[in-house]
Amino acid sequence: MTAPAAVFLDRDGTLIEEVGYLDRPERVQLYPWTVDAIRALNRAGLRTVMVTNQSGVARGFFTEAVVMRVHERIAQLLAAGGAHLDAYYYCPHHPDGKVPEYATACECRKPGRALVDRAVAEFGIDPAASYAVGDRWFDVSLARTVGATGILVRTGYGADEEHRPPAGVAADAVVNNLAEAASWLLIDRDRRAR
Ligand SMILES: [Mg+2]
Ligand SMILES: [Zn+2]
Repeated sequence: MTAPAAVFLDRDGTLIEEVGYLDRPERVQLYPWTVDAIRALNRAGLRTVMVTNQSGVARGFFTEAVVMRVHERIAQLLAAGGAHLDAYYYCPHHPDGKVPEYATACECRKPGRALVDRAVAEFGIDPAASYAVGDRWFDVSLARTVGATGILVRTGYGADEEHRPPAGVAADAVVNNLAEAASWLLIDRDRRAR
Protein backbone atom coordinates (compact mmCIF):
# COMPACT_ATOMS: atom_id res chain seq x y z
CA MET A 1 0.00 0.00 0.00
CA THR A 2 1.31 3.42 -0.87
CA ALA A 3 1.55 6.03 1.87
CA PRO A 4 -1.13 8.73 2.00
CA ALA A 5 0.45 11.60 0.14
CA ALA A 6 -0.29 15.15 -0.89
CA VAL A 7 0.68 17.53 -3.61
CA PHE A 8 1.35 20.98 -2.16
CA LEU A 9 0.43 23.37 -4.91
CA ASP A 10 1.54 26.95 -5.21
CA ARG A 11 -1.21 29.26 -6.49
CA ASP A 12 0.08 32.22 -8.51
CA GLY A 13 2.15 31.21 -11.52
CA THR A 14 1.40 27.53 -10.91
CA LEU A 15 -2.37 26.88 -10.75
CA ILE A 16 -3.37 30.28 -12.14
CA GLU A 17 -1.76 33.00 -14.21
CA GLU A 18 0.66 35.23 -12.32
CA VAL A 19 -0.91 38.71 -12.41
CA GLY A 20 0.89 40.46 -9.55
CA TYR A 21 -1.20 41.13 -6.46
CA LEU A 22 -4.50 39.43 -7.25
CA ASP A 23 -7.12 41.68 -5.70
CA ARG A 24 -10.31 40.64 -7.52
CA PRO A 25 -11.81 37.19 -8.19
CA GLU A 26 -12.61 38.24 -11.76
CA ARG A 27 -8.88 38.35 -12.47
CA VAL A 28 -8.46 34.62 -11.78
CA GLN A 29 -7.35 32.76 -14.87
CA LEU A 30 -6.55 29.06 -14.73
CA TYR A 31 -3.94 27.77 -17.14
CA PRO A 32 -5.52 25.72 -19.96
CA TRP A 33 -4.17 22.49 -18.41
CA THR A 34 -4.93 23.18 -14.75
CA VAL A 35 -8.29 21.39 -14.55
CA ASP A 36 -7.02 18.24 -16.24
CA ALA A 37 -3.86 18.16 -14.14
CA ILE A 38 -5.77 18.50 -10.86
CA ARG A 39 -8.33 15.92 -11.93
CA ALA A 40 -5.52 13.46 -12.64
CA LEU A 41 -4.11 14.04 -9.14
CA ASN A 42 -7.61 13.65 -7.64
CA ARG A 43 -8.10 10.36 -9.44
CA ALA A 44 -4.73 9.08 -8.30
CA GLY A 45 -5.88 9.49 -4.69
CA LEU A 46 -3.44 12.26 -3.84
CA ARG A 47 -4.53 15.06 -1.54
CA THR A 48 -4.32 18.37 -3.35
CA VAL A 49 -3.40 21.20 -1.01
CA MET A 50 -2.89 24.79 -2.08
CA VAL A 51 -0.15 26.54 -0.11
CA THR A 52 0.22 30.18 -1.05
CA ASN A 53 1.97 33.28 0.30
CA GLN A 54 -0.45 36.22 0.18
CA SER A 55 1.56 39.06 1.67
CA GLY A 56 -0.78 41.51 -0.08
CA VAL A 57 -2.95 41.15 3.03
CA ALA A 58 -0.13 42.31 5.34
CA ARG A 59 0.77 45.05 2.87
CA GLY A 60 -2.80 46.36 2.92
CA PHE A 61 -3.46 45.71 -0.79
CA PHE A 62 -6.47 43.47 -0.11
CA THR A 63 -8.22 41.70 2.76
CA GLU A 64 -8.44 38.05 3.76
CA ALA A 65 -12.06 38.15 2.58
CA VAL A 66 -10.77 38.90 -0.92
CA VAL A 67 -8.31 36.00 -0.72
CA MET A 68 -11.19 33.70 0.22
CA ARG A 69 -13.33 34.97 -2.65
CA VAL A 70 -10.46 34.32 -5.04
CA HIS A 71 -10.24 30.77 -3.72
CA GLU A 72 -13.99 30.28 -4.10
CA ARG A 73 -13.61 31.38 -7.70
CA ILE A 74 -10.80 28.89 -8.28
CA ALA A 75 -12.91 26.15 -6.67
CA GLN A 76 -15.82 26.98 -9.00
CA LEU A 77 -13.64 26.87 -12.10
CA LEU A 78 -12.14 23.55 -11.05
CA ALA A 79 -15.52 22.07 -10.14
CA ALA A 80 -16.86 22.95 -13.58
CA GLY A 81 -14.26 20.53 -14.94
CA GLY A 82 -14.74 17.84 -12.30
CA ALA A 83 -11.62 18.71 -10.30
CA HIS A 84 -11.11 19.89 -6.74
CA LEU A 85 -8.53 20.93 -4.20
CA ASP A 86 -8.80 19.37 -0.74
CA ALA A 87 -7.56 22.50 1.04
CA TYR A 88 -6.82 26.14 0.36
CA TYR A 89 -4.15 27.32 2.79
CA TYR A 90 -2.60 30.76 2.67
CA CYS A 91 -0.21 32.92 4.66
CA PRO A 92 -1.43 36.53 4.99
CA HIS A 93 1.68 37.74 6.86
CA HIS A 94 4.82 39.65 6.05
CA PRO A 95 7.45 40.99 8.46
CA ASP A 96 7.41 44.38 6.67
CA GLY A 97 3.62 44.56 6.42
CA LYS A 98 1.68 47.78 6.95
CA VAL A 99 -1.28 46.16 8.67
CA PRO A 100 -0.15 45.60 12.28
CA GLU A 101 -2.03 42.36 12.94
CA TYR A 102 -0.32 40.70 9.95
CA ALA A 103 3.12 42.33 10.22
CA THR A 104 4.89 39.39 11.75
CA ALA A 105 7.69 36.96 10.99
CA CYS A 106 5.44 33.91 10.96
CA GLU A 107 6.03 30.19 10.54
CA CYS A 108 3.53 29.81 7.69
CA ARG A 109 5.10 32.00 5.01
CA LYS A 110 6.89 29.71 2.53
CA PRO A 111 9.51 28.34 2.81
CA GLY A 112 8.22 28.06 6.39
CA ARG A 113 6.57 24.72 7.01
CA ALA A 114 3.54 25.55 9.19
CA LEU A 115 0.95 25.13 6.42
CA VAL A 116 2.39 21.75 5.46
CA ASP A 117 2.29 20.72 9.12
CA ARG A 118 -1.37 21.74 9.18
CA ALA A 119 -2.07 19.45 6.21
CA VAL A 120 -0.20 16.62 7.92
CA ALA A 121 -2.37 17.07 11.01
CA GLU A 122 -5.59 17.44 9.04
CA PHE A 123 -5.15 14.67 6.48
CA GLY A 124 -2.61 12.31 8.04
CA ILE A 125 -0.36 12.49 5.04
CA ASP A 126 3.27 11.43 4.88
CA PRO A 127 5.45 14.39 3.79
CA ALA A 128 8.18 12.05 2.57
CA ALA A 129 5.71 10.56 0.07
CA SER A 130 4.43 14.01 -0.93
CA TYR A 131 5.34 16.62 -3.52
CA ALA A 132 5.53 20.39 -3.70
CA VAL A 133 5.03 22.18 -7.00
CA GLY A 134 5.70 25.86 -7.60
CA ASP A 135 7.30 28.53 -9.75
CA ARG A 136 9.66 29.91 -7.09
CA TRP A 137 12.70 28.40 -5.41
CA PHE A 138 11.06 28.83 -2.01
CA ASP A 139 8.44 26.35 -3.18
CA VAL A 140 11.24 23.86 -3.78
CA SER A 141 12.87 24.81 -0.46
CA LEU A 142 9.61 24.03 1.28
CA ALA A 143 9.76 20.52 -0.18
CA ARG A 144 13.34 20.15 1.06
CA THR A 145 12.42 21.36 4.54
CA VAL A 146 9.60 18.85 5.01
CA GLY A 147 11.32 15.96 3.22
CA ALA A 148 9.03 16.02 0.19
CA THR A 149 9.90 15.99 -3.51
CA GLY A 150 10.18 19.46 -5.08
CA ILE A 151 9.19 20.37 -8.63
CA LEU A 152 9.82 23.77 -10.22
CA VAL A 153 7.46 24.78 -13.05
CA ARG A 154 8.53 27.27 -15.73
CA THR A 155 5.21 29.14 -15.74
CA GLY A 156 4.92 32.35 -13.70
CA TYR A 157 8.38 33.32 -12.45
CA GLY A 158 9.70 29.81 -13.04
CA ALA A 159 11.49 30.37 -16.35
CA ASP A 160 13.52 33.18 -14.73
CA GLU A 161 13.96 31.32 -11.47
CA GLU A 162 15.37 28.28 -13.26
CA HIS A 163 18.56 30.19 -14.11
CA ARG A 164 19.02 31.65 -10.63
CA PRO A 165 18.99 28.74 -8.22
CA PRO A 166 19.97 29.77 -4.68
CA ALA A 167 23.02 28.04 -3.24
CA GLY A 168 22.25 24.59 -1.96
CA VAL A 169 18.76 24.28 -3.45
CA ALA A 170 18.07 21.93 -6.34
CA ALA A 171 14.74 20.74 -7.71
CA ASP A 172 13.96 17.08 -8.18
CA ALA A 173 12.48 18.09 -11.52
CA VAL A 174 12.13 21.26 -13.58
CA VAL A 175 9.21 21.05 -15.98
CA ASN A 176 7.28 23.39 -18.26
CA ASN A 177 4.01 23.58 -16.36
CA LEU A 178 1.59 21.93 -13.95
CA ALA A 179 0.49 19.34 -16.51
CA GLU A 180 4.05 18.11 -16.84
CA ALA A 181 4.51 18.25 -13.07
CA ALA A 182 1.44 16.05 -12.57
CA SER A 183 2.69 13.53 -15.15
CA TRP A 184 6.17 13.50 -13.66
CA LEU A 185 5.03 12.95 -10.10
CA LEU A 186 2.45 10.29 -10.97
CA ILE A 187 5.17 8.33 -12.75
CA ASP A 188 7.56 8.89 -9.83
CA ARG A 189 4.92 7.69 -7.38
CA ASP A 190 4.19 4.60 -9.42
CA ARG A 191 7.89 3.78 -9.61
CA ARG A 192 8.28 4.11 -5.85
CA ALA A 193 5.30 1.85 -5.20
CA ARG A 194 6.94 -1.08 -6.99
MG1 LIG B 1 3.97 31.31 -7.41
ZN1 LIG C 1 2.18 33.45 7.80
